[in-house]
Amino acid sequence: MSKELAVVGVGPAGLAVAILLHDAGFRVTLYERFEQAGPVGSGLVLQPTGLAVLQQMGLREQIEDLGHRIDAMHGRIAPAGKSVLDIRYNALSESLYGVAIHRASLFSVLFDAVHARGIAVHTATCIDSIEHLAGAKVRLVDRGRRLTSTFDLVIDASGAGSRLTSHALKPARARALEYGALWATVNTAGTPFNHHRLEQRYRAARVMAGVLPCGRLPQDAPSCSRATYFWSIRNADHAAFVNAGLAAWRDQARAVWPQTDVLLEQIQSPEQLVHARYVHHTLMPPMGKSIVFIGDAAHSTSPQLGQGANMALLDARALAAALQSESNLQQAAKNYCRLRRLHVRFYQLASLSLTPFYQSDGTVLPALRDLLFGPVSRLPGSAALVTRLGAGLLFSPATAEAG
Ligand SMILES: Cc1cc2nc3c(=O)[nH]c(=O)nc-3n(C[C@H](O)[C@H](O)[C@H](O)COP(=O)(O)OP(=O)(O)OC[C@H]3O[C@@H](n4cnc5c(N)ncnc54)[C@H](O)[C@@H]3O)c2cc1C
Repeated sequence: MSKELAVVGVGPAGLAVAILLHDAGFRVTLYERFEQAGPVGSGLVLQPTGLAVLQQMGLREQIEDLGHRIDAMHGRIAPAGKSVLDIRYNALSESLYGVAIHRASLFSVLFDAVHARGIAVHTATCIDSIEHLAGAKVRLVDRGRRLTSTFDLVIDASGAGSRLTSHALKPARARALEYGALWATVNTAGTPFNHHRLEQRYRAARVMAGVLPCGRLPQDAPSCSRATYFWSIRNADHAAFVNAGLAAWRDQARAVWPQTDVLLEQIQSPEQLVHARYVHHTLMPPMGKSIVFIGDAAHSTSPQLGQGANMALLDARALAAALQSESNLQQAAKNYCRLRRLHVRFYQLASLSLTPFYQSDGTVLPALRDLLFGPVSRLPGSAALVTRLGAGLLFSPATAEAG
């Protein structure tokens, strides 16, 4: 008899694993806390790693249709100083690129695929615990209320704020990061920003502004072209930002990067700027008794290296592969942890180490960045290495992603 699997959360990790496991013959049920399943937030970059998983699911074409091809990631000292971040995918291969996509578009492609397969989705269920039953079965608890269905395995894909991590073999200690970001979706049609680059500007590590062209929303006309504008902020300064008013912030943002004026003028109310906070945690190993963790529930960090959604997709693929090749679920969970261990640990460490160079109150690390990152990136072999890092390909279990 096929195994019954519960997936908690309909973010990229939950939706992808549900699709892959359904296609492999498992019976999958999704649970989501929101009444109306839907995405929040900004654009994100799908790296060659994440794109390969979407290709395996037959969804890459739709993703590329809604998203925006990204050939390079570039950053310079504000307003037009020297270049201190220069990642070009073609340093590895002419056929390699990323795809920036709005989270709403990624969600719509994955959710439509879930819907087309008839996978059950229960919304308005906020899963905060699990209960073990006789016969190695497990059931979900929704805010203290036991749900009736029973499962062979729970897959926690409920993101960085997961309430189930206490069921892991070793719960991780979560650390809230000092800096977050404000995000807004803007239109770039007819502006100089409709290019194939993620662009950033820095002032030490206290100021970081960025523009990520991310294609269109599912309901947009094909000619529409959007971008995510982001502005780094110390979380403790958010109240002061709100009190100072939008005009004061816009003046500051314009001084940092005058060319963004055409985007800034589209931000007319504070509600357009969404405040994202980041938490760093890594479950080692991301499993417990009858439960396994994927995506941000297993490992979250600042989006400095832009790997989170891609790692979520890689987790989904690794877990689906492990469950297909091993019928003992605990052993399959262990195999999944082993498959992902090196890549996850490396990128968690890299992200934690690099974040203070771009988002912190320090002065030494950003000064070193401004002095050294440019010349180092021009050393023989380093362009390829930096591109491998940015593309998520270092220690990736699948090398085929390199295209
Ligand atoms: C501002 C920002 C920018 C980013 N940029 C990038 C980028 O460029 N590239 C990249 O790869 N990644 C990026 N990331 C990271 C990326 O968004 C995450 O890593 C990714 O969304 C993780 O997917 P997930 O499915 O694990 O979790 P989530 O996307 O957080 O989804 C979790 C789902 O679970 C649901 N849920 C939560 N709790 C419960 C509960 N108790 N019961 C039921 N359901 C629940 C939530 O409502 C949600 O639907 C960025 C993140 C942020 C915040």
